[in-house]
Amino acid sequence: MMKRVLSFAKRFLMPHFRWLLITFITGLITAAASGLAVPFMVKYVFPVVFYNGEGAQPLLMQYVPAFREMEHATLLLLACASMPLVFAIRGVAMWANHVVVNILGLRILESLRTTVFHHVQQLPIAYLEGQTKGDLVSRIVADSSNVQHVLSHVANDLVKQPITCVCAFSASMYLLFSTGSPEMAIALLFIGLAAWPIVSFGKRIAQRAKNAQSELGELNTVVQQNLETQREIRAYALEEREIADFASASVGYKRNMAKLVKYQRLIIPIMETVTALALSFLLISGKNSGMGEEDFMALALAMFFTFDSMKKAGQAFNRLNEAQGSLTRLEDILAEPNPIEDPENPLPMPAKVKGELDFRNLTFAYDAGKPVLKDINVHIPAGQIVGLVGPSGAGKTTFASLIPRFYDATQGSVCVDGIDVRDVTMHDLREQLSIVGQQALLFSGTIRENIALGKPGATDAQIQAAADAARVSVFLDNQPQGIDTQLGQGGSGLSGGQRQRVAIARAFVKDAPLLILDEATASLDAESEREIQQELDQLAQGRTTLIVAHRFSTLRHAHRILVFEHGRIVGDGPHETLYATCPLYKELFDRQGAV
Ligand code: ADP
Repeated sequence: MMKRVLSFAKRFLMPHFRWLLITFITGLITAAASGLAVPFMVKYVFPVVFYNGEGAQPLLMQYVPAFREMEHATLLLLACASMPLVFAIRGVAMWANHVVVNILGLRILESLRTTVFHHVQQLPIAYLEGQTKGDLVSRIVADSSNVQHVLSHVANDLVKQPITCVCAFSASMYLLFSTGSPEMAIALLFIGLAAWPIVSFGKRIAQRAKNAQSELGELNTVVQQNLETQREIRAYALEEREIADFASASVGYKRNMAKLVKYQRLIIPIMETVTALALSFLLISGKNSGMGEEDFMALALAMFFTFDSMKKAGQAFNRLNEAQGSLTRLEDILAEPNPIEDPENPLPMPAKVKGELDFRNLTFAYDAGKPVLKDINVHIPAGQIVGLVGPSGAGKTTFASLIPRFYDATQGSVCVDGIDVRDVTMHDLREQLSIVGQQALLFSGTIRENIALGKPGATDAQIQAAADAARVSVFLDNQPQGIDTQLGQGGSGLSGGQRQRVAIARAFVKDAPLLILDEATASLDAESEREIQQELDQLAQGRTTLIVAHRFSTLRHAHRILVFEHGRIVGDGPHETLYATCPLYKELFDRQGAV
């Protein structure tokens, strides 16, 4: 736990060192005002107030000659004014401490969230595909919020309470020795007893908190999936099953939170009882040792502050345990290695490559499993349109995914214009490439914004030209605000074909020399497919294009076709040659009976 907290502190707290220092100083002032000033007021200032000129002079007057010569009324005024003064100083310091700690908490949350989100952007696609999205959302949003919430509540106490404890403890010791009753120090042994529940419950609290946060992640997952698949749920009448899944995650969350509260809330009564025990012990031994009232009151207050600050520090420590669950869940993401990184000294890439592709002695396996691509050697000249065909699972999509470095070759290499894709930055590499997938992924925003994503800073004329080329303009007439029509999440409000056109327009505006069409029309009906095919053919002109084909009709303009089977290329050539020489190709082609 300590190691984690320390590494967290180094990474996320140290950049805010100045703010931390202010927190510490204001905490110190608050702590000294409570732990030292209050008991000393009772011991030294109160006797001045109640001194009526008879008997021994109060200590303060004995020590400070100036007070002895002062008029009684002035002294009284001074003594009485010192109380609000101490509390005013304490109040200002406490206010500043709270404000700074909260700002600090928000800053830490911001950098924590951003760091995790940034890391997620770089993690391998395979890792992200293996995670449930609801849980990831929960980690990035809810867990980081939990850490911030806890931090802003406890950071005050983590600084202030231990200092108060040390101050009040020193005051107690001083009072004990100055009143000549050191044997009463035994009362402080109760501190050990008071520390026990903090340590003993700490681990359980951390575990419960972690469990509760994963249940929350599970809840998020259920809700997210449920909302994304409402059509299927209703069509297959899966509502009951969904409700049961939700209820089970919800019950799990409730159970863990209930246990958490139980442990959390048990600490305070235990510690308070121990404090009361210590004070009553003090009372008895104080009475026996013949201690004066103000000495006793001062000592009791000092001891009370020692215990009270310890209780609060303990509570803060346990809240920290609660945050530890969330921290672990965030750190698990941060600890996930990113095997695909930019090279240390990247080679420069031309602003626009010619588009020549080379796959050399290439073997690829997902996660050290069986190779899904084996001994691939292919040269694709710039501008060639290449169809990839083969049975499902033969490796076509994987083959295309190696060009933008969604994955890296296990052996061998992939080169663009003779440059290994691992020798340039991913940013430079991906600038050279457009992908149109099976499902057009649109973001919430206007149609214009969605097209402009292809080329940040594109002019209106370029966007319009791309919209025309992809024939987005055809359906814009029916949209209320034309190209500025707002789309919902995932492009809702447009038909599948229309969405695909927006994605094609995005590729047109990007105007990249490499193009991957990955079953771009597979989810469309025959009529939409026919319509969109024209735009795709036009988009492919002059670019090195890989078409992962699901229907042969999409390969009309292909110069060359690669036939994949079990991760190997078993046919390579134009349609006529393959039809005559490659039995698998002939079989696949005949089965569709189309061109
Ligand atoms: P195709 O595009 O020809 O249908 P793929 O390239 O999608 O084939 O898949 C090739 C093989 O790799 C399949 O056996 C598939 O199960 C496996 N595969 C695809 N994606 C992953 C992944 N992310 N993790 C592990 N295995 C995968």
